[in-house]
Amino acid sequence: MKAAVLCEYGEPLSIEEVPEPTPDPHGVVIETEACGICRSDWHAWQGHGEWADDQVPIGQILGHEPAGRVVAVGEQVRDIGEGDRIAVPFNLGRGHCGYCQNGHGNVCENGIALGFEESAPGAFAERVHVPSADYNAVHLPESVSPVEMAGLGCRFVTAYHALAHRADLTPGDWVAVHGCGGVGLSAVHVADALGANVIAVDLDADKLDRARDLGADETVLADAETDVPTTIQARLGGADVSIDALGIAETCRNSIDCLRPRGQHVQLGLTTDAERGEVSLPTDAMTMREITFLGSRGMPPSRYDELLRMLERDTLSPGKLVTNTVSLAEVPDRLAAMNDFETSGIEVVEFSASS
Ligand SMILES: [Zn+2]
Ligand SMILES: [Zn+2]
Repeated sequence: MKAAVLCEYGEPLSIEEVPEPTPDPHGVVIETEACGICRSDWHAWQGHGEWADDQVPIGQILGHEPAGRVVAVGEQVRDIGEGDRIAVPFNLGRGHCGYCQNGHGNVCENGIALGFEESAPGAFAERVHVPSADYNAVHLPESVSPVEMAGLGCRFVTAYHALAHRADLTPGDWVAVHGCGGVGLSAVHVADALGANVIAVDLDADKLDRARDLGADETVLADAETDVPTTIQARLGGADVSIDALGIAETCRNSIDCLRPRGQHVQLGLTTDAERGEVSLPTDAMTMREITFLGSRGMPPSRYDELLRMLERDTLSPGKLVTNTVSLAEVPDRLAAMNDFETSGIEVVEFSASS
């Protein structure tokens, strides 16, 4: 089968013929129908993450946002059969530890990250193995269209988990979203669907137009003259919940500084090689104003059902985030386009489109 392989950090991924996966006793293999292209793939491709012992090995098949149909089933798997249509969270749990048992498989003690580790080859491939499938695989209703399914990649579920489970969000709260890439726009749409008011921030006016289309009530164009926190404080008296959807020191800091007292910051973006996982924060001011800093990672597989019900009722429409579908052969170029933030919304590999 064909797959996109990381051969050297920062050099174009190589489209290669690689061996077909076979299911281990608890795993299944899916024929990939769609897989989102994500900034996390870009970080992996750049060799980032060394500072958190999280650098992706050379030889890795990238791609971590797959959905598809099951074509082979391990002998110990109980609840998934050939032909089932499933989505797969990138943060795979084993299903046995206390975190998994209590519904927090996204932070499993023995978790593995699909498409980022040697033991979990990714989904920029015609077929992909899903370990511990009874625990991790999420059945998709047939009513979820291929485009919606494709839009459901890590960014959408990450934004949902952040706002629905991590932040203590009340309808009518102001949510600020810093950075309107794929995860940021997903956060705008999810916050709007959950009944919040949304203020979106970006350097790019076109991305702010997209944010308005997806439910942003207010926007801030963060040009050189704009002090983002002061602008948000002046306009709204501060945000109740604020999201750094980019992961650079400036957006993280802006996100914290734009909060009102008792506000909550949620960190979604991983940092770049400029920060190397460290950002200095105004801890005294955060203490005095009772600001909360929340990390948020992916989404536990056991929480997908509520999100899927919202898809079925059209309260959430991840398909609206999908701006471009490409073939597997185009993945190396589309990752490179992320160097200069040239992509917008969510780009997706569709395997029916590739050869
Ligand atoms: Zn676990
Ligand atoms: Zn992703």
